[in-house]
Amino acid sequence: MVLRLILLGSPGSGKGTQARMLQEGYQIVHVSTGDILRRAIQAQTELGRLAQSYMDDGNLVPDDVMLRLVKETLDAPRYEAGYVLDGFPRTVPQSTAFESMLLQWGAALTAVISLEVNREVLIHRLSGRRVCPECATTYHIDQLDPSGELRCTRDGALLVQRKDDDAQAVAIRFDAFERETLPLKQFYRDRGLLREIDGSRATGEVFKDIQRILA
Ligand SMILES: [Zn+2]
Repeated sequence: MVLRLILLGSPGSGKGTQARMLQEGYQIVHVSTGDILRRAIQAQTELGRLAQSYMDDGNLVPDDVMLRLVKETLDAPRYEAGYVLDGFPRTVPQSTAFESMLLQWGAALTAVISLEVNREVLIHRLSGRRVCPECATTYHIDQLDPSGELRCTRDGALLVQRKDDDAQAVAIRFDAFERETLPLKQFYRDRGLLREIDGSRATGEVFKDIQRILA
């Protein structure tokens, strides 16, 4: 069976890790919108240049350009064996257009997997994160000795917190994501494709749930 998946999850939900595990475990291609854009811009395709012009002006790449990019990408032979989409579709109009695109190809989505993370768990996970400014190793304060200074175990540098990991910034990002994703989830729930998974648990347990869905 060809697996065509969409993976949904807020920042910090472990989406990137699960996408990598899916890619390795099922030999399907992980397609993120970031990669699609980077590749098209690097290759200087017509669409790539168009997308670049929007981004240079600080705007989001509009739906129709994003759709044409996705179409151009997924039309290549390497995606015939299946893929997991990450970051696309982002809106209901994109989902509707993607649905007709698949229909034209005689293809169907297998499932839309949504990694659900409790707001408090996520804030704890991200706001406790500290990064080494020297070697970029990431730590969580729960792993570190609370009595002393928070230092990198490799090079002894003082760890820092990234600006967007601050608890308030995390809460704002999470709420915005939830708000944007709600209509998208309803769209796929109506089609019987949405599978919601508790993403607050350990990576391996979350992946086992995904395997059960795909079995
Ligand atoms: Zn370090």
